[in-house]
Amino acid sequence: MKKYVAAIDQGTTSTRFMIFDHSGNIIAVNQKEHRQIFPKPGWVEHDPLEIWARVQEVMRGALQESGLQSADIAAIGVTNQRETTVVWDKSTGKPVYNAIVWQDTRTDILCNELAKDGGQDRLREKTGLPLATYFSGPKIKWILDNVDSVRAKAEKGELAFGNIDSWVIWNLTGAHVTDVTNASRTLLMNLHTLDWDADTLKLLNIPRAILPEIRSSSEIYGTAKIILEGVPVAGDLGDQQAALFGQTCFSAGEAKNTYGTGCFMLMNMGEIPVPSKSGLLTTLGYKIGNQKAVYALEGSIAVTGSLVQWLRDNLGIIQKSSDVETLAQTVEDSGGIYFVPAFSGLYAPYWKSDARGAIVGMTRYVNKGHIARAALEATAYQTCEVLDAMEADSGVKLTALKVDGGMVFNELLMQFQSDILDVPVVRPKVAETTALGAAYAAGLAVGFWKNYDELRANWGVDKRWIPKMSSNQREGLYSGWKKAVTRTFDWVE
Ligand code: ADP
Repeated sequence: MKKYVAAIDQGTTSTRFMIFDHSGNIIAVNQKEHRQIFPKPGWVEHDPLEIWARVQEVMRGALQESGLQSADIAAIGVTNQRETTVVWDKSTGKPVYNAIVWQDTRTDILCNELAKDGGQDRLREKTGLPLATYFSGPKIKWILDNVDSVRAKAEKGELAFGNIDSWVIWNLTGAHVTDVTNASRTLLMNLHTLDWDADTLKLLNIPRAILPEIRSSSEIYGTAKIILEGVPVAGDLGDQQAALFGQTCFSAGEAKNTYGTGCFMLMNMGEIPVPSKSGLLTTLGYKIGNQKAVYALEGSIAVTGSLVQWLRDNLGIIQKSSDVETLAQTVEDSGGIYFVPAFSGLYAPYWKSDARGAIVGMTRYVNKGHIARAALEATAYQTCEVLDAMEADSGVKLTALKVDGGMVFNELLMQFQSDILDVPVVRPKVAETTALGAAYAAGLAVGFWKNYDELRANWGVDKRWIPKMSSNQREGLYSGWKKAVTRTFDWVE
């Protein structure tokens, strides 16, 4: 009997390969960063060939360290940074342009033009999404309109579009597929039919021939051909949906918040796509084989952990991300400032592509400790706005927030988060829920796990933070934040 399931977790900043046992314990992990390419203000790209090279390296690395091989691994799941867009030539396997990353804002003019007729929410009923630079559809259009001789090839079906899941699975197995969760982030999939929407394809002038086949999140798509030869690739979930699954939020009303490059809160809404009135997204949660699709509401925040990286790489006030906590602890509070990191515009609940970042309330008193603290607090305030929207749309009052992702080892942030939400915050034993969720989807497809109860039994609490702040202080700080956010609006034309 094969004892393990593996997952490729291709994130915005790095790629991980993880191997889990039946209890969800991590048996092996290997991780590598890739280059962030910033050709112009607001533009963010990755090199798809570098990403594929990193995937192979981390797979080989984890297998070497653990001494495991094909005979030990029951299935491979794939999870990925969502929306990031690759178009490649099917015959050469070469990308026609760099991957345009989800944070990239180059399509803002295009999105504004599309919104002139029918407004920013003209596609919401069908797709669950506002027109925004975040999603793949406008990025595909940009590539087809701006890269030489690409459109003709696309019309002839010689090119393939994929998010990073498709790119990885195509390279690994030869299949050109995606899953419903990834497809639900393109602005091109109809939420109700789970198929590409002909009218939207026409609106964006995207030929159907380049699109992958939309499949469930848990089924065999093909077998690995290069590394782990013969092992079924059987799970595919966008990273945030994978975290929802890895946190075992299988019942309607259960939610999680993942703190990585950005921050993403998802709530399971059951088998009905619930529309949002509060600036959230209606999105796919997961679909297991032939079972009915499960929908989610999502609050997406563009910049959280990447603000910490910015303090490290652009300001140089910390050496590594975790140093931000030590620096923030040199001061008692943020010294009256707020840091609104609208570097990619503002996502939920505002959806303003024309906002840009600001530090407000500056005086000569402020030092780098205050900046570090304000940067961390920004993550907590943004999450608070998303939670408010989530409670308004779902009618569910959360009694605790399940958290995961790279930033949840920051104690100062987690305590402040609990304080500002006035809700307990809970970190599970396996905080690598993204990879775990993809492994669960793959394991379910091949019968390695039999049902949700087996997965629920694997979940356990590692740490819980309880709110300690007075309501007066909380309300004062939060209303200051809301005022600060308005100062970033309407910045770029
Ligand atoms: P992703 O999957 O989006 O690449 P991760 O979940 O791996 O992200 O989290 C990495 C992010 O978390 C980085 O942006 C990093 O700056 C941030 N981060 C990591 N450790 C800490 C920490 N101790 N305090 C604050 N931020 C952190």
